[in-house]
Amino acid sequence: MKPFADTLREIIAHDGPITVERYMSLCLRQYYATRDPLGRTGDFTTAPEISQMFGELIGLWLMEIWHAMGRPSPCRLVELGPGRGTLMADLLRATQVLPDFKAAATVHLVETSPALRQRQQAALAASGFSLHWHDRLVDVPSGPVLLVANEFLDALPVRQFLATELGWCERLVGLDGERLIFGLRPEPEQGLGNPLRMGDVLEWPAASIDVMGELARRLQQDGGAALILDYGYWGPAYGDTLQALKQHIFVDPLAEPGEADLTTHVDFHRLAQAAVAGGARAHGIATQGDFLKALGIEARATSLKARATPAQAADIDQALARLTERGPTGMGELFKVLAVTDKGIASIPALPALSISS
Ligand code: SAH
Repeated sequence: MKPFADTLREIIAHDGPITVERYMSLCLRQYYATRDPLGRTGDFTTAPEISQMFGELIGLWLMEIWHAMGRPSPCRLVELGPGRGTLMADLLRATQVLPDFKAAATVHLVETSPALRQRQQAALAASGFSLHWHDRLVDVPSGPVLLVANEFLDALPVRQFLATELGWCERLVGLDGERLIFGLRPEPEQGLGNPLRMGDVLEWPAASIDVMGELARRLQQDGGAALILDYGYWGPAYGDTLQALKQHIFVDPLAEPGEADLTTHVDFHRLAQAAVAGGARAHGIATQGDFLKALGIEARATSLKARATPAQAADIDQALARLTERGPTGMGELFKVLAVTDKGIASIPALPALSISS
């Protein structure tokens, strides 16, 4: 088979320079379809892969909401981009606190990668829940929803615009001989206003905004709640956050198309705005560290350690620190948590109501 980089060069030679959004989209499809990117041997590690505590606490959080909703049946338990299925497996174990949930719930995994669907099937087959796979959120059947998405939205493509004397010009990926290079569309994009500072980069996450809009529509129609966790910030902010990771090391995003993980930081303000514009209610945001502590991660670590060997106890402490601490090695501050619910849900555990104009 032809190497993906050659196919990409042919596309650009034929169509001319492509947008960063299309570049991300083509590379990510190739990347996720051809590997399991997670864990020590892969390119990056996520919170559920660090500790079972992450999924268990989210499972308990979801059960509080399901109970407060009046225990609807059927209930669609949805995960966007479930990776190896670890978060869902840990979460399902924790739902045993409400045994009725198993009879009420159907599990819906929104996943495009055949390789990862297989991993998820293997991780979840023994759970006893009824499992369904879909390519997109719109394909999940109607009914009250409980949804979780961890490190999913950072993997969706964004458009990038650079502030120039002419206005916001879209960043493109073109060819210099065989080499991929960044360029700019010469005509500015209309409708983005006038940039204030030359050199600023505006990122427009059209795909994430679509997902949030669809999510809000469903929540409003059928009821429910969604929890979004990812690395990112509360915008507006201007900067180029496109990054590529290979074997846990940052690499040039153009150097190895389809072979490195490409992501951007998530603007939670834009996501919340999209959800509110779609008719839903937003809650949060909190840092991952504060959220997990509010859910009782420290007590959970203590109780796991009571039954652990000294080596296991040290691992639990290390995982707790990694999930909750600030600083370069911790995920506690960089990662944020946003919840979105139907308007009938006025408050949810651990996240304050968010007042936001759409
Ligand atoms: N949530 C997991 C994995 C995060 S990696 C964890 O926390 O470990 C991103 C996941 O999203 C992968 O499962 C990937 O295959 C999936 N994915 C990426 N783009 C997607 C898309 N457009 N539609 C559906 N799934 C997608």
